[in-house]
Amino acid sequence: MTLYYTGNHRDPGQLEEMHRLERSGICLFCPDNLANEPEQRLLHRTSWWSVTPNRYPYAGTQNHLLLVPTIHVADLLDLPTEARNDFWTALSWVRDTFELEFYGLGARCGPCEYTGGTIEHVHVHVIVGAVTDPEHQPVRFKLSSRPGR
Ligand SMILES: [Zn+2]
Repeated sequence: MTLYYTGNHRDPGQLEEMHRLERSGICLFCPDNLANEPEQRLLHRTSWWSVTPNRYPYAGTQNHLLLVPTIHVADLLDLPTEARNDFWTALSWVRDTFELEFYGLGARCGPCEYTGGTIEHVHVHVIVGAVTDPEHQPVRFKLSSRPGR
């Protein structure tokens, strides 16, 4: 089983990082690794969730955060009830801290090769569009990009 699906990488640096982590057998989003990865800042932690910036934010975003559960599962619905409920605590922290008036949420559940995901450990994207940019267009949650397209 692989932790990373390189077919969906969006950045050459990201691809390199995915290869490095896969070779080391490190899941970047498992709590100990997330806490010890200097490039992956930890902004906040609740009982069951970590808040961290997406190091490879989507184009057209002014802020792109990830909410990562402390348990390694591939589907949000495989989290225990306490973790599911605690999601709202983490999301509230994000909205309050960043004073968000709007944002989009997205999660990919199941095998990355079918969802457009890159890492098996499920996480929720909090996407804030860069509306002050004159070129702004509403952010579209990209489902999939196949290699070579
Ligand atoms: Zn993990």
